[in-house]
Amino acid sequence: MKGMSYDELQSWCLELGQSGYRAQQLFEWMYRHGISSFENMSNVNKSFREYLENNCIIQTLEMKNKSFSNIDTSTKILFSTTDDQFIETISMIDKNRHTVCISSQVGCALDCGFCETGRMGLKRNLNTGEIVDQLIFVRHHEKQPITNVVFMGMGEPMHNYDNVISAADIFHSPRGFNLAATRITISTVGILPKIQQFISEKQPYKLAISLNAADDITRTQIMQVNKKWPIADLIGVGKEYSNLKKRHVMFEYVLLKGINDSKDDAHKLANLLRGIPCKLNIIPYNETDGSYQRPDEKIIRRFSEILHNLRDEYRVFVRWSKGQDINAGCGQLAGKQA
Ligand code: SAH
Repeated sequence: MKGMSYDELQSWCLELGQSGYRAQQLFEWMYRHGISSFENMSNVNKSFREYLENNCIIQTLEMKNKSFSNIDTSTKILFSTTDDQFIETISMIDKNRHTVCISSQVGCALDCGFCETGRMGLKRNLNTGEIVDQLIFVRHHEKQPITNVVFMGMGEPMHNYDNVISAADIFHSPRGFNLAATRITISTVGILPKIQQFISEKQPYKLAISLNAADDITRTQIMQVNKKWPIADLIGVGKEYSNLKKRHVMFEYVLLKGINDSKDDAHKLANLLRGIPCKLNIIPYNETDGSYQRPDEKIIRRFSEILHNLRDEYRVFVRWSKGQDINAGCGQLAGKQA
């Protein structure tokens, strides 16, 4: 039952001989109130509650561990699913901003050489209920209201498109989490047909594309997926999104020492972004197994300054990942139990 949309609940309730209004009650109990047991559905009659209890699952995840960073206010939560898979969710609080980074898959099918999740391979997609339950859990355990959701945890959201969009719709719904669509960001390696679908369906959510290199040779070296959908395709579709939606696409760029952090790379990147109203998020690499390194701070600053000085319609940010001491930074999630 967890993960059903309003429409799905409505047809299901009607099939069971319940009124359509029942669907509204169930939707609100699950998503607005985030209840974990059917007993709490006080305005639902006892016999239907009993039916639900015997036939449905209301809670899809179990918390296994919680780690708190000593250097900032981020918390990493390890969950197990009902089939004993492990996923991770990060809560990051920065003054009034509370961003939750959620997972969309157990593992990931892409093998971007620098990402820890990729090393796990893909176990399976998360269903909508499991995606939504991550946010319900954080909302319940952290006092500060959630202001932003990013699909930047484990997995490639565009490989689990339908469940990701259904979950985003529940986050956005006034009867659900009531989050503005502009506060929900879906990040992708650049699965071109899915981005095109996202644009043609006029999805209201924000799009982030992990560019990570300024030329195809370098990008293919670190992201195999570039052979299929190279940089020009991603720049093209990013432009289309920004122009069509008047909502700026975000390009992410993981900065790897000696790979994509030279002055020349910075100039090439500025050229690529010229004329696109967008946001560039530079992510200094969070080290994982030792194959890649984070550039020195001086190099990180030099790279971002060049881009800043050459900026045209784009804005530049450096994302100093949070929670590195608890392996909660971008690309460090692997559902490890220790
Ligand atoms: N699969 C999606 C979302 C998950 S990763 C995507 O690739 O966009 C979210 C961001 O973290 C991506 O931009 C990715 O390139 C970046 N990333 C992955 N591993 C990283 C690492 N070890 N350090 C810093 N950023 C990393």
